[in-house]
Amino acid sequence: MQLTVLGSGGCAAIPKPLCDCRVCTEARLKGAPYARCGPAVFVHDINLLIDTPAEISSMLNRGGITQLDYLLYTHLDPDHVEGSRILEQITLDYRTWQAHTGSSINLLLPEKQEERLYALKSQYGATFDYYQRQKFITIRTFNSHLKIDGVELTAVPVDRIRQTVYIYVFQSGGKKVVYAPCDVRPFPHDRQEVRGADLLIIQPGFFEDEIKHAFTYPPDHISRTTLYSFEQTLELAQKARASQILFVHLEEHWNRSYDDYLALASQYPGIRFAYDGMQVSV
Ligand SMILES: [Zn+2]
Ligand SMILES: [Zn+2]
Repeated sequence: MQLTVLGSGGCAAIPKPLCDCRVCTEARLKGAPYARCGPAVFVHDINLLIDTPAEISSMLNRGGITQLDYLLYTHLDPDHVEGSRILEQITLDYRTWQAHTGSSINLLLPEKQEERLYALKSQYGATFDYYQRQKFITIRTFNSHLKIDGVELTAVPVDRIRQTVYIYVFQSGGKKVVYAPCDVRPFPHDRQEVRGADLLIIQPGFFEDEIKHAFTYPPDHISRTTLYSFEQTLELAQKARASQILFVHLEEHWNRSYDDYLALASQYPGIRFAYDGMQVSV
Protein backbone atom coordinates (compact mmCIF):
# COMPACT_ATOMS: atom_id res chain seq x y z
CA MET A 1 0.00 0.00 0.00
CA GLN A 2 1.10 3.52 -0.81
CA LEU A 3 0.05 6.43 1.40
CA THR A 4 0.78 10.14 1.56
CA VAL A 5 0.45 12.02 4.82
CA LEU A 6 -1.10 15.17 3.36
CA GLY A 7 -1.26 16.84 6.76
CA SER A 8 0.53 15.89 9.97
CA GLY A 9 -0.75 18.69 12.21
CA GLY A 10 -3.58 18.76 14.71
CA CYS A 11 -6.26 21.26 15.75
CA ALA A 12 -4.17 24.29 14.75
CA ALA A 13 -1.92 24.53 11.71
CA ILE A 14 1.79 25.18 12.27
CA PRO A 15 2.69 28.03 11.91
CA LYS A 16 -0.37 29.22 13.76
CA PRO A 17 -1.34 32.65 12.41
CA LEU A 18 0.03 35.52 14.56
CA CYS A 19 1.99 33.14 16.81
CA ASP A 20 5.61 34.10 17.41
CA CYS A 21 6.64 30.99 19.37
CA ARG A 22 9.88 29.22 18.42
CA VAL A 23 8.12 26.38 16.55
CA CYS A 24 5.83 28.65 14.51
CA THR A 25 8.60 31.16 13.72
CA GLU A 26 10.84 28.41 12.34
CA ALA A 27 7.94 26.85 10.39
CA ARG A 28 7.07 30.23 8.85
CA LEU A 29 10.66 30.61 7.71
CA LYS A 30 11.32 27.07 6.44
CA GLY A 31 7.91 25.67 5.39
CA ALA A 32 7.43 21.86 5.32
CA PRO A 33 8.57 19.63 6.97
CA TYR A 34 8.55 22.25 9.77
CA ALA A 35 5.12 23.59 8.78
CA ARG A 36 2.10 21.34 9.33
CA CYS A 37 -1.47 21.39 8.02
CA GLY A 38 -4.43 19.60 9.62
CA PRO A 39 -4.85 15.81 9.75
CA ALA A 40 -5.42 14.00 6.42
CA VAL A 41 -4.01 10.95 4.66
CA PHE A 42 -4.37 9.74 1.06
CA VAL A 43 -4.39 6.04 0.14
CA HIS A 44 -3.14 5.88 -3.45
CA ASP A 45 -4.14 2.26 -4.12
CA ILE A 46 -7.83 3.23 -4.19
CA ASN A 47 -7.64 7.06 -4.48
CA LEU A 48 -9.14 7.45 -1.02
CA LEU A 49 -8.88 10.53 1.16
CA ILE A 50 -9.38 10.41 4.90
CA ASP A 51 -10.72 13.66 6.39
CA THR A 52 -10.93 17.19 5.01
CA PRO A 53 -9.24 19.70 7.33
CA ALA A 54 -9.45 23.43 6.60
CA GLU A 55 -6.37 23.50 4.35
CA ILE A 56 -7.26 20.37 2.32
CA SER A 57 -7.49 22.23 -0.98
CA SER A 58 -3.84 23.29 -1.00
CA MET A 59 -2.81 19.96 0.57
CA LEU A 60 -4.27 18.00 -2.38
CA ASN A 61 -2.54 20.34 -4.83
CA ARG A 62 0.76 20.09 -3.00
CA GLY A 63 0.45 16.28 -2.80
CA GLY A 64 0.06 16.03 -6.57
CA ILE A 65 -3.30 14.26 -6.21
CA THR A 66 -5.09 14.06 -9.57
CA GLN A 67 -7.94 11.64 -8.85
CA LEU A 68 -10.24 11.36 -5.82
CA ASP A 69 -12.70 8.45 -5.82
CA TYR A 70 -13.44 7.82 -2.14
CA LEU A 71 -13.67 9.80 1.08
CA LEU A 72 -13.86 8.64 4.69
CA TYR A 73 -14.28 10.60 7.91
CA THR A 74 -12.70 9.35 11.11
CA HIS A 75 -15.17 11.55 12.98
CA LEU A 76 -16.94 14.86 12.52
CA ASP A 77 -14.99 17.26 14.71
CA PRO A 78 -14.26 20.59 12.97
CA ASP A 79 -10.53 19.96 12.53
CA HIS A 80 -11.45 16.90 10.40
CA VAL A 81 -14.43 18.20 8.38
CA GLU A 82 -14.19 21.96 7.97
CA GLY A 83 -12.62 21.73 4.50
CA SER A 84 -15.51 19.64 3.15
CA ARG A 85 -16.35 22.33 0.59
CA ILE A 86 -13.65 20.88 -1.66
CA LEU A 87 -16.28 18.25 -2.54
CA GLU A 88 -18.29 21.00 -4.19
CA GLN A 89 -15.27 22.80 -5.62
CA ILE A 90 -13.87 19.64 -7.27
CA THR A 91 -17.10 18.39 -8.82
CA LEU A 92 -19.21 21.49 -9.55
CA ASP A 93 -20.24 22.27 -13.12
CA TYR A 94 -21.12 25.97 -12.93
CA ARG A 95 -23.36 25.62 -16.02
CA THR A 96 -25.83 23.38 -14.17
CA TRP A 97 -24.87 23.94 -10.53
CA GLN A 98 -24.69 20.18 -10.24
CA ALA A 99 -21.71 17.87 -10.42
CA HIS A 100 -20.02 17.18 -13.75
CA THR A 101 -21.27 13.80 -15.01
CA GLY A 102 -19.26 10.98 -13.47
CA SER A 103 -17.41 13.24 -11.04
CA SER A 104 -19.41 12.38 -7.90
CA ILE A 105 -17.11 11.37 -5.01
CA ASN A 106 -18.05 8.28 -3.00
CA LEU A 107 -18.42 9.09 0.68
CA LEU A 108 -18.00 5.81 2.54
CA LEU A 109 -20.08 6.25 5.64
CA PRO A 110 -20.16 3.93 8.65
CA GLU A 111 -23.87 3.57 9.50
CA LYS A 112 -23.53 5.12 12.95
CA GLN A 113 -21.98 8.28 11.46
CA GLU A 114 -25.00 9.04 9.27
CA GLU A 115 -27.22 10.86 11.76
CA ARG A 116 -24.40 13.11 12.98
CA LEU A 117 -23.31 13.86 9.43
CA TYR A 118 -26.63 15.53 8.69
CA ALA A 119 -26.29 17.63 11.83
CA LEU A 120 -23.55 19.62 10.07
CA LYS A 121 -25.29 22.68 8.66
CA SER A 122 -24.82 25.70 6.41
CA GLN A 123 -27.38 28.32 5.44
CA TYR A 124 -28.66 25.83 2.83
CA GLY A 125 -29.54 23.29 5.53
CA ALA A 126 -27.69 20.04 6.15
CA THR A 127 -24.36 20.44 4.35
CA PHE A 128 -23.98 16.85 3.22
CA ASP A 129 -27.63 16.61 2.18
CA TYR A 130 -26.95 19.56 -0.14
CA TYR A 131 -23.79 17.89 -1.50
CA GLN A 132 -25.81 14.75 -2.14
CA ARG A 133 -28.70 16.58 -3.86
CA GLN A 134 -26.25 18.32 -6.19
CA LYS A 135 -24.52 14.94 -6.81
CA PHE A 136 -21.16 16.23 -5.52
CA ILE A 137 -21.09 13.08 -3.41
CA THR A 138 -22.63 9.62 -3.49
CA ILE A 139 -23.12 8.26 0.01
CA ARG A 140 -22.33 4.58 0.45
CA THR A 141 -23.15 3.47 3.96
CA PHE A 142 -21.56 0.34 5.34
CA ASN A 143 -21.59 -1.50 8.61
CA SER A 144 -18.01 -2.44 9.36
CA HIS A 145 -16.42 -4.03 6.34
CA LEU A 146 -15.88 -3.17 2.66
CA LYS A 147 -13.63 -4.37 -0.13
CA ILE A 148 -12.50 -1.92 -2.81
CA ASP A 149 -10.26 -3.06 -5.66
CA GLY A 150 -8.41 -5.62 -3.56
CA VAL A 151 -8.10 -3.39 -0.48
CA GLU A 152 -10.08 -4.54 2.54
CA LEU A 153 -11.38 -1.75 4.74
CA THR A 154 -12.64 -2.31 8.27
CA ALA A 155 -14.19 0.40 10.44
CA VAL A 156 -13.56 -0.12 14.15
CA PRO A 157 -15.71 2.11 16.38
CA VAL A 158 -14.42 3.90 19.46
CA ASP A 159 -17.28 5.01 21.67
CA ARG A 160 -16.56 8.54 22.91
CA ILE A 161 -20.04 8.95 24.49
CA ARG A 162 -20.75 12.22 22.62
CA GLN A 163 -19.82 10.64 19.29
CA THR A 164 -18.41 7.50 17.73
CA VAL A 165 -14.90 7.87 16.33
CA TYR A 166 -13.67 5.37 13.74
CA ILE A 167 -10.33 3.68 13.42
CA TYR A 168 -9.83 2.48 9.85
CA VAL A 169 -7.94 -0.70 9.06
CA PHE A 170 -6.63 -1.27 5.54
CA GLN A 171 -5.43 -4.70 4.43
CA SER A 172 -3.88 -5.54 1.10
CA GLY A 173 -1.21 -7.93 -0.14
CA GLY A 174 -0.85 -9.45 3.34
CA LYS A 175 -0.11 -6.04 4.93
CA LYS A 176 -2.13 -4.15 7.51
CA VAL A 177 -2.28 -0.41 8.14
CA VAL A 178 -4.27 0.93 11.09
CA TYR A 179 -5.24 4.61 10.93
CA ALA A 180 -6.21 6.11 14.30
CA PRO A 181 -5.28 9.80 14.21
CA CYS A 182 -7.54 11.45 16.78
CA ASP A 183 -9.69 10.83 19.85
CA VAL A 184 -9.11 7.08 20.02
CA ARG A 185 -9.27 6.66 23.78
CA PRO A 186 -10.32 4.00 24.81
CA PHE A 187 -8.19 2.34 22.12
CA PRO A 188 -9.56 -1.17 21.43
CA HIS A 189 -6.17 -2.90 21.53
CA ASP A 190 -7.81 -6.27 22.23
CA ARG A 191 -9.74 -6.27 18.97
CA GLN A 192 -8.21 -8.57 16.40
CA GLU A 193 -8.75 -6.02 13.61
CA VAL A 194 -6.31 -3.51 15.09
CA ARG A 195 -3.74 -6.02 16.34
CA GLY A 196 -0.48 -6.89 14.59
CA ALA A 197 -0.41 -3.89 12.24
CA ASP A 198 2.57 -3.51 9.95
CA LEU A 199 2.00 0.19 10.47
CA LEU A 200 -0.03 1.92 13.17
CA ILE A 201 -0.70 5.59 12.39
CA ILE A 202 -1.79 7.27 15.61
CA GLN A 203 -1.58 10.50 17.58
CA PRO A 204 1.23 10.39 20.15
CA GLY A 205 -0.94 11.69 22.98
CA PHE A 206 0.04 14.67 25.09
CA PHE A 207 3.54 15.28 26.36
CA GLU A 208 4.24 15.67 30.05
CA ASP A 209 7.08 18.17 29.69
CA GLU A 210 8.39 21.06 27.62
CA ILE A 211 4.98 22.00 26.25
CA LYS A 212 3.88 25.60 25.70
CA HIS A 213 3.78 28.08 28.59
CA ALA A 214 5.84 25.59 30.64
CA PHE A 215 2.50 23.95 31.47
CA THR A 216 2.31 20.59 33.21
CA TYR A 217 -0.94 18.64 33.25
CA PRO A 218 -2.20 18.31 36.83
CA PRO A 219 -3.35 14.82 37.89
CA ASP A 220 -7.04 15.74 37.56
CA HIS A 221 -6.79 17.53 34.20
CA ILE A 222 -9.58 16.67 31.73
CA SER A 223 -7.05 15.67 29.05
CA ARG A 224 -5.90 12.81 31.27
CA THR A 225 -9.33 11.22 30.81
CA THR A 226 -9.87 12.02 27.13
CA LEU A 227 -6.35 11.49 25.73
CA TYR A 228 -3.43 9.20 26.34
CA SER A 229 -0.01 10.51 27.27
CA PHE A 230 2.92 9.78 24.95
CA GLU A 231 4.15 7.04 27.30
CA GLN A 232 0.67 5.45 27.45
CA THR A 233 0.44 5.54 23.65
CA LEU A 234 3.76 3.72 23.33
CA GLU A 235 2.45 1.09 25.76
CA LEU A 236 -0.80 0.54 23.93
CA ALA A 237 1.01 0.26 20.58
CA GLN A 238 3.12 -2.45 22.16
CA LYS A 239 0.01 -4.21 23.53
CA ALA A 240 -1.54 -4.09 20.05
CA ARG A 241 1.71 -5.56 18.66
CA ALA A 242 2.25 -2.92 16.00
CA SER A 243 5.52 -3.42 14.07
CA GLN A 244 5.97 0.24 13.17
CA ILE A 245 4.37 3.38 14.58
CA LEU A 246 3.89 6.65 12.72
CA PHE A 247 2.76 9.60 14.81
CA VAL A 248 0.39 12.21 13.33
CA HIS A 249 -1.95 14.97 14.56
CA LEU A 250 1.04 16.82 16.06
CA GLU A 251 -0.25 19.77 18.04
CA GLU A 252 1.24 23.24 17.99
CA HIS A 253 1.01 23.55 21.79
CA TRP A 254 3.28 20.53 22.23
CA ASN A 255 6.00 23.01 21.36
CA ARG A 256 8.13 20.60 19.34
CA SER A 257 9.76 21.22 15.97
CA TYR A 258 10.50 18.78 13.16
CA ASP A 259 14.07 18.45 14.51
CA ASP A 260 12.82 17.83 18.06
CA TYR A 261 10.63 14.95 16.81
CA LEU A 262 13.55 13.49 14.82
CA ALA A 263 15.65 13.48 17.99
CA LEU A 264 12.84 11.91 20.00
CA ALA A 265 12.19 9.18 17.40
CA SER A 266 15.87 8.21 17.47
CA GLN A 267 15.43 7.13 21.11
CA TYR A 268 12.82 4.48 20.31
CA PRO A 269 13.04 1.67 17.75
CA GLY A 270 10.18 1.45 15.23
CA ILE A 271 8.71 4.91 15.70
CA ARG A 272 8.60 7.90 13.38
CA PHE A 273 6.87 11.26 13.44
CA ALA A 274 5.09 12.20 10.23
CA TYR A 275 5.56 15.42 8.28
CA ASP A 276 3.44 16.98 5.54
CA GLY A 277 3.97 15.28 2.20
CA MET A 278 5.54 12.17 3.76
CA GLN A 279 5.28 9.14 1.45
CA VAL A 280 4.72 5.82 3.18
CA SER A 281 4.99 2.38 1.56
CA VAL A 282 3.75 -0.69 3.42
ZN1 LIG B 1 3.25 28.79 17.82
ZN1 LIG C 1 -8.49 15.86 15.55
